[in-house]
Amino acid sequence: MRCNLEEAHEKFCLESEVSVGFISFTKLRPPQVRKVGETDRKTCLCQMCCNVKLKSEALQKYAKSHNCNIAIEVSNTKLARLTFCAYETWPGSQCVARNCASCGLNIYLHNIKSQVNERGAIEFFKWGRKKIQKGDKSKMVTTCEKYDMAIDQFMEDYASDLNELGPHLFRADWQHKQQQALLANLPDKEVVLCMDFANSYQCIYAAETQNAFFDQVPVTIHPMMLYYKINHGEASTLVKHTIIGITNQEKDAYSVKIVEGRALARAREGLKLLPTDTMRVH
Ligand SMILES: [Zn+2]
Ligand SMILES: [Zn+2]
Repeated sequence: MRCNLEEAHEKFCLESEVSVGFISFTKLRPPQVRKVGETDRKTCLCQMCCNVKLKSEALQKYAKSHNCNIAIEVSNTKLARLTFCAYETWPGSQCVARNCASCGLNIYLHNIKSQVNERGAIEFFKWGRKKIQKGDKSKMVTTCEKYDMAIDQFMEDYASDLNELGPHLFRADWQHKQQQALLANLPDKEVVLCMDFANSYQCIYAAETQNAFFDQVPVTIHPMMLYYKINHGEASTLVKHTIIGITNQEKDAYSVKIVEGRALARAREGLKLLPTDTMRVH
């Protein structure tokens, strides 16, 4: 999930006929939908979105504690919208490519800057890679650290983050829309295989007495969703099937191809899910 709870609630209210308040909505959150704090470093939420969100929240706190008379937007979706010229459904292609002279955050950021400039340092959290030393070995880890920065410098960095956020969220939404359109109109004998990956997991302890059986070779996990159609006379049902691939190879184009081939072979021959005359895999 790449939105926060407020955004998920707003979307739920728009798309469903059930009326539910924000507090009840958060209480009814299914256990498999986990918040970023709970998912720790295993989160698949993108670093850019998380960092913009953390900075917006820090700025909101800062504005409040310095008695600035300005509303700070903390919703990434709404911020992304502010970075483009006004639009109904999709932003203009010139705006997404950042070739448009009329869009940008100038007015919004100018208002904030005029209130916060030269007011002293701001504290904020940020996800990033950091080298840690363990004995004589060092390794890179992803961590969320606290930073301290002059507000003017912070505002400059924030402006460039927001400049990237707009096209970044547009691409995610556009890809999602294309995938939905493809699935809704999936022709006969065609399947969709949607793949992701999580690189370099360390397998150290499976259980106390079993650790001797495993070495510490990192593994790469490829979660896949396979979509295909089953026809019943005139009607058809879209079926989703989850397949997980695990390799001890670092992820590259070749290993992705191998995992994809094995997943399809397993679905076709082993599980007999797909017709043997499947013609195209998207
Ligand atoms: Zn993102
Ligand atoms: Zn524009």
